[in-house]
Amino acid sequence: MWIMLEADADSKALRARLHGMGLWTRSLQSTTARGLEVLPHSRAVPSAELRRLPGVADVLESPSAQPCLDAQAGGPWAVFAGGRPVLLAGPCSVESPSQIEAAAAMVAAAGGSFLRGGAFKPRTSPYSFKGHGRPALAWMRRAASRHGLGMVTEVMAESDVEAVAEVADIMQIGSRNMQNYALLREVGLAAKPVLLKRGMAASVEEWLLAGEHALAAGAPLVIFCERGIRGFDPSTRNLLDLGAVALLKQVLRQPVIVDPSHACGRRDLIPALARAALAAGADGLLVEAHPDSGQARSDGPQALNAEELRGLMPELQLQLGSGV
Ligand code: PEP
Ligand code: MN
Repeated sequence: MWIMLEADADSKALRARLHGMGLWTRSLQSTTARGLEVLPHSRAVPSAELRRLPGVADVLESPSAQPCLDAQAGGPWAVFAGGRPVLLAGPCSVESPSQIEAAAAMVAAAGGSFLRGGAFKPRTSPYSFKGHGRPALAWMRRAASRHGLGMVTEVMAESDVEAVAEVADIMQIGSRNMQNYALLREVGLAAKPVLLKRGMAASVEEWLLAGEHALAAGAPLVIFCERGIRGFDPSTRNLLDLGAVALLKQVLRQPVIVDPSHACGRRDLIPALARAALAAGADGLLVEAHPDSGQARSDGPQALNAEELRGLMPELQLQLGSGV
């Protein structure tokens, strides 16, 4: 954004005023005009407000790089209609009809709105359990519907988009596929809400523009999910970037949820990260939970049990009650 100055403007006074408003600028001058370029870490101030300041001749804005995201900014988003944080929970992998049925019962009893679970699992090792694929989609849909829950599940391949879109209420794009633009396009064409996990080393800009890809292709909504980025310290699985959550929420007004499970990799820290996520402005939480985590075929150490999951919802309401 550029603030163009009137010929006799007191640029020093104007810059001081802008600093006071949280806008940081760089001064640029040509033979015909004087202007101030607003730097990216500035507060977002409507250009109409800037035009009213003494000495300002005009405000020039470059066309947005993310028009679809701008259009969904601020909502309303039907997924978060209840006005309280949304809980999406369930196992890492859908392992059997009885396991996902028990998981759905746990999620419903805990006050969750969506059942999560992977039918297609992206695994670091090719020899690890990679999910049951399409049959698991049907088991999961049945379990979610029986307990009045929505269903969110990951789609990893373009060739599976149609099958996943048929049963899922929200289609998840995993961290490892955040920049798979062909997949983002195919998922967008399916015209279902998308849950877009942040890539492990993706900048916020790359993450946002990945969302723009899905929206531009036809997705009605992209929900951003912060799940921790790569840090240097293995004490926690990843590094939960709550600054990015606050930025997406407060400045860009995007729908954003937090996955504390993949962020820390251990169940005992999940309530603390969940509270912090909501304090940072998250619209909801994506949490791994398993009816028998000792038997889980993936991510057992970070899976909450039924009692731990039930304990989470009062935490969420506590946050709301305190006006955060
Ligand atoms: C998941 O949610 O099951 C998952 C694989 O997460 P991520 O893509 O964040 O690693
Ligand atoms: Mn997992």
